[in-house]
Amino acid sequence: MFRPFTPPIEDIAIVFGHERSLSNGEKRIYSVAALRISQHATVTEFTSHIRSGKLRAREYAHSQLGEAKLKNAPDEITVSGHLQDFLEGIDHVVGYVPNGHIISLEPLCNNERIIDAALLADYFMPWTGAATAKSLWEYLHKQERQKISFSALEGAKLCTDFLQHLFGTVLNDTTFPAASALRYYLRTSNTLFGTFCCHMLEHFDDYFGNALITPVSKPETADWEQFLDTVPKKEKSTDQREAFHELPEDDIQQLYEQLAHKRKGYSVRQPQVDYASHVARAINANAVACIEAGTGTGKTLGYLLPVMEFLKRNPTQRVAIATYTKSLQKQLYGNELDSCRELFGQYNTIPVALIKGKSNYVCAHKLNDILSPLLDGMEMLSWLYFANICYQYRITDLDDVTPRMRAYFDEGRILSNIAQEVSAGSGCFSTHKQCPGNIVTAEAAQSRLVITNHNKLVLMEQDPQLSELFKHCIIDEANHFEDAVRTTLSPEFSTSDIFFYCRYLREQCRKLILAPSTPEAIEYQAEAVVSEIAYTVTKIDALRDQFKQMNQAAAYGAVPVTPAHQAFTKGDITNDLEILNKHLERIHELSAFFSGKKAGNLPLGYKSISRCRTMRTLLQEASVNLMLIRKGLHEDGTWNSIQVFPRNWLLCGGQVYLGAFIRESIIKQRDTIILTSATLTHQSSFTPYRRTLGLGKSDVLTFSDKEAPPKPCFVARVAPPFTPDYSLVVPSDAPSALYEHKRLWLEYTLKVLPKLIEYNDGATLVLCASYEDLEALRQEFEATYDGSYPLLFQRKGEPATALIEEFRTTRESVLFGVETFWHGVDFPGNTLTQVIITRLPFPAPNSPLMDARKRFLPDGVFWERYRYETAIKFRQGAGRLIRRETDSGLVIVLDNRLLKNQRLAPCPVIQGMRNIPERHRGKGWNKAK
Ligand code: SF4
Repeated sequence: MFRPFTPPIEDIAIVFGHERSLSNGEKRIYSVAALRISQHATVTEFTSHIRSGKLRAREYAHSQLGEAKLKNAPDEITVSGHLQDFLEGIDHVVGYVPNGHIISLEPLCNNERIIDAALLADYFMPWTGAATAKSLWEYLHKQERQKISFSALEGAKLCTDFLQHLFGTVLNDTTFPAASALRYYLRTSNTLFGTFCCHMLEHFDDYFGNALITPVSKPETADWEQFLDTVPKKEKSTDQREAFHELPEDDIQQLYEQLAHKRKGYSVRQPQVDYASHVARAINANAVACIEAGTGTGKTLGYLLPVMEFLKRNPTQRVAIATYTKSLQKQLYGNELDSCRELFGQYNTIPVALIKGKSNYVCAHKLNDILSPLLDGMEMLSWLYFANICYQYRITDLDDVTPRMRAYFDEGRILSNIAQEVSAGSGCFSTHKQCPGNIVTAEAAQSRLVITNHNKLVLMEQDPQLSELFKHCIIDEANHFEDAVRTTLSPEFSTSDIFFYCRYLREQCRKLILAPSTPEAIEYQAEAVVSEIAYTVTKIDALRDQFKQMNQAAAYGAVPVTPAHQAFTKGDITNDLEILNKHLERIHELSAFFSGKKAGNLPLGYKSISRCRTMRTLLQEASVNLMLIRKGLHEDGTWNSIQVFPRNWLLCGGQVYLGAFIRESIIKQRDTIILTSATLTHQSSFTPYRRTLGLGKSDVLTFSDKEAPPKPCFVARVAPPFTPDYSLVVPSDAPSALYEHKRLWLEYTLKVLPKLIEYNDGATLVLCASYEDLEALRQEFEATYDGSYPLLFQRKGEPATALIEEFRTTRESVLFGVETFWHGVDFPGNTLTQVIITRLPFPAPNSPLMDARKRFLPDGVFWERYRYETAIKFRQGAGRLIRRETDSGLVIVLDNRLLKNQRLAPCPVIQGMRNIPERHRGKGWNKAK
């Protein structure tokens, strides 16, 4: 796909395959369909099953192919022969194996030149997440698809529709002018991938017989920057504070009555009105409020409506809403806001903006620096991928790089290195007009409602354009807020970044040394930079060995660096870090000639010089982080961790207690702060939560700055609109899932899980406490499970969207998940009737943060915090089961420690499966017995 391709392209072929896994781990296609499309738009079809044994349940769910059909099908060699005859004369094909690997098609087609259709979707439309067949179908048809299965021929036709959409609409000059630049660079890449895309755009009508669509209407251009948006002109500020109009509680009730009148199927729910009244009360009083509202309250609309009404009545006020998850952010900015505006037309004039952290955006300036005539092949395509994100910054960002993109493009870290270099989050040293980050910031500064994430909210006050603007804030999913503050404020020092910066500087210095026109003084300095980099690399390597010697476990995960650590007892690691930092500072200092006024005279291209400046800035930022961490190593109240990789190491650190910062730097700066979630309290008490945020116990919040006015502070719990109907049970033979008993616990879990899945007839979410647990279960299940329920496993680093969708659609499926599945996913109805918690979610006692808390916090506070975190996570996990009033089912905990810690449970615990009430027993209960 990434090698040059020169033969003329005539017909095209699309091949779809269903892939199965054999017990030895090999992958094979068991059903195939191909479409051959000529340049006269004639289509011929080929389709065949391939003789195979029994399919796994998940494979069956995707194809609906039974054993009988596959048993009587022709064998692989015969099908391959027929398929090759069908494809005769075609040098390359477009392949689509949505639930597998394109490589499985190679032996069948006897062709290695296969363009992965799913990669085309990820590459050109990363915002859709449409690389699964169902989601691609829904995206193209703009409607929901009830079933997940496709016949092979349906799959091949879907792929054809996708190509038609991609080349006829997405990359059409008329709707997307920057396509003319993308075409130029696709061609320059000198790859089959690029050649094929250009060919399809030029011959669209020939293949799809639609003369009305001509994707290419402009000449190709290398000037990619001309298509970048520019920062809007600053409008005159209208921000003169006017009288503050409160939102009377009676008006709140009326708002929801109007909503019931306008929205079909909506009726006024008292808990939602109560919730909205608390929100209004907080805004009216400029208070700090912690509001807990259970599932079913309708929280999002419960704050969005009062907020919009408040903004309508107060044209100079502004509100920020911050979420923890991207999915809630999307739901708010898209669905909820749109429907609110549609129903209440007067809200349409309130300007709203979505803003993420700057590091999510691509820096156009740095991206242009990387572009060079030497780029081709995969490097060129990687660059172009980021150029496309830079154009589409409103709907996609650097977080959307998919695992498939990484698998194809990250050989030698090509993609990761570019992503790291072009992120707008760091190394930004100027103000450019064509900058996505600056555009969204300018728009946010002119908006009256911004929707953002927790991290960006924390940093907003440091942004000169946004600080002091958004005085009222709603923080949704607020149980994660402290975590988000910690991530935002904790510096990291990664040696792989340092190597990357140094490598580029060294390369350019060597060029200077070799160039005859380099002035002698610069040549001397360039030589000094090269030697300094060599010392730095040696120091980094020595430190890596030192860290590893100190704690072998650092090679398997982050371990704490504590005062009792050998780093201090056998020498002083802080001295070594200081020396390393001196080297970094020295490189920065010696390479100053790249940034001086005379840099333009260096015998290097201007882009190389500009990139060297970026590298210097990044190096300097890394050095600041290193010194922050180093300082923290000697301070009380900090946590620090080290992780060692084969070549690199990663050092992190931060404050254990963030309450003071949150109170003084976030809450004090705002008029109103509303912290809300379905899970804030433990045993009906807000005390532990308030403590984490530095809110104390009083109704009035005071600040260290005596001039700052005190703030009212209140808490509220909105009674859930219904009583959840489920049983929480610990089987009588469940072991203790202490890490020390891992083997016993694993054996037990592997033994009972298939039975529990069968009793419930699938529809089960299995929650694991760590990826390690999940992997242990996955390996065993994938090798041995022979049941009839499709098993879906979350994988580290892979987005969960496709799994969520598959789980929702295939009712009998079983989903094994970690972190993200404990919160923030919704599976209403009979898709999910059983949640199995494999291990109580106690925080890992040996994690660097826990270790530091234990040393720093008084015993009572530590344990209160420990239990609080466990209880909140447990409630969230169990809470996945009941999303609607009509939902019911079972939560099973395979860890008998719950019996001794029943106060962690959100409801009474039943001991023994026999004692489960009849109505909560799964559909397969009697069948299985
Ligand atoms: S302002 Fe900063 S982030 Fe924006 S384009 Fe310029 S250097 Fe990049």
